[in-house]
Amino acid sequence: MCGVFGAFSSNHFVAEEVYLGLSALQHRGQESAGVAWIDSGGRVNAIKGMGLLHEALSQGVLAETPAKAAIGHVRYSTAGGSMIQNAQPICANYAQGPVAVVHNGNLTNFNDLRSTLESRGAIFQSTSDTEAILQLLAHQPRRRPFEALLRALAEVRGAYSLVVLIEEGLVAARDPWGFRPLALGRKGDDYYVASESCAFNLLGASFVRDVEPGEVLLINESGMTSYRLPVKCERKWVCSFEFVYFARPDSVIEGRSVYRVRQEMGRKLAKNCPAAGADFVASFPDSGTTAALGFAAESGMPFEAAVVRNRYVGRTFIQPTQKVRELGVRIKLSPSPELFRGRNAVLVDDSLVRGTTAGLVVSMIRECKALSVHLRISSPPVQYPCFYGIDTPSNGELAAAKHSQAEIARSIGADSLCYLSKDEMVEAIGLPDNSLCTACFDGKYVSAHDAECSSSHACREIFD
Ligand code: AMP
Ligand code: SF4
Repeated sequence: MCGVFGAFSSNHFVAEEVYLGLSALQHRGQESAGVAWIDSGGRVNAIKGMGLLHEALSQGVLAETPAKAAIGHVRYSTAGGSMIQNAQPICANYAQGPVAVVHNGNLTNFNDLRSTLESRGAIFQSTSDTEAILQLLAHQPRRRPFEALLRALAEVRGAYSLVVLIEEGLVAARDPWGFRPLALGRKGDDYYVASESCAFNLLGASFVRDVEPGEVLLINESGMTSYRLPVKCERKWVCSFEFVYFARPDSVIEGRSVYRVRQEMGRKLAKNCPAAGADFVASFPDSGTTAALGFAAESGMPFEAAVVRNRYVGRTFIQPTQKVRELGVRIKLSPSPELFRGRNAVLVDDSLVRGTTAGLVVSMIRECKALSVHLRISSPPVQYPCFYGIDTPSNGELAAAKHSQAEIARSIGADSLCYLSKDEMVEAIGLPDNSLCTACFDGKYVSAHDAECSSSHACREIFD
């Protein structure tokens, strides 16, 4: 899970805007950040660093960078370790000129691609799957980069929302299945692409539309041209977890406000998993708050901000060891004894994965002497791993893959536990069931048939 951003202007420098755009996408990755541009000598340049955006990059340096097109990335590793070699943009100056790539998603045929490329002499510099795209380009040394990119994308499978910088312009591409979001924004003659539409607000740009699954946009001095990848799929696989947890609530994905969807998830949860007799609704801030507001509105119970979040501690899930993860939850979330003592609480979170967060928060609430704690989860049980760019652990670590609902409630120490059903989640998202990926909830992954899709000839004029 990562955030990607790109900007193109015909009349002003944009590297600082890329920095600002990335700051609105920081929730999508906190391990490393980077920005790349092509300099006046026609060579690609990048600055990258580990940590949060302000630790990794200097806004001042970017403000002085003379680039009318630039791309950037915030990283949360799902393929390849957390190290500077894997930080993006991944850049090269190859036979056909400069190229820089940023990627959100996981390529499912990376191992096959890597073996094939290595047997042709490729030397990989990183363990990131994104490098395969660059290598596929470099292995077509006589083709112009844009054509080579389209051909490269026809070979990769899985999830990619990409922004690429080449001499022909700024390129935005989304895989034909549409797993990860990618939005197009505009301000006058300036174009922006971002993982989420929330990144445009900060720049005063308007959200135009989503980049379509299988669409490739080329943006340069001549304007914007839309192309289709020569791969046609029967259906979309838009990630439902983006609506549950990952996307920011002020983003719009596939025409649906993430905020409204989460509120509706909370309403449905209140209808089908009521907690009669509870005194109030609280949430795990911030991930469960929007759904908790929906739960409170539907149930008529008051919402209390009874669990306080320390704003200066990042996402605990990302910490590598269970010990640090547990300590992280305690530092980050703190229930207020005044509000819980002697009362019955409904506690809402967006998802339960390993059960670490819920277990610790419920035990802290018990320490506050609450009479009862009813846990409500505004998504279905996570039972299967994700192969498309979200770091859900292997089956062995997923609470719902090993244990029944009653067992989980017991081990967490909750008086009751209830999840939103898959059908309710899909209804709340408001998109057709057969356009969403719900694999981590129901195990229905892209079938072999869908993964192959069928070759269409939409790009023939480019390839001929
Ligand atoms: P867990 O503590 O393992 O049950 O994880 C659930 C908590 O982590 C919830 O509070 C979610 O908001 C959050 N969460 C769920 N999925 C992810 C993910 N893939 N990456 C980071 N955090 C997540
Ligand atoms: Fe999203 Fe889950 Fe599908 Fe992964 S498996 S793309 S997290 S819905």
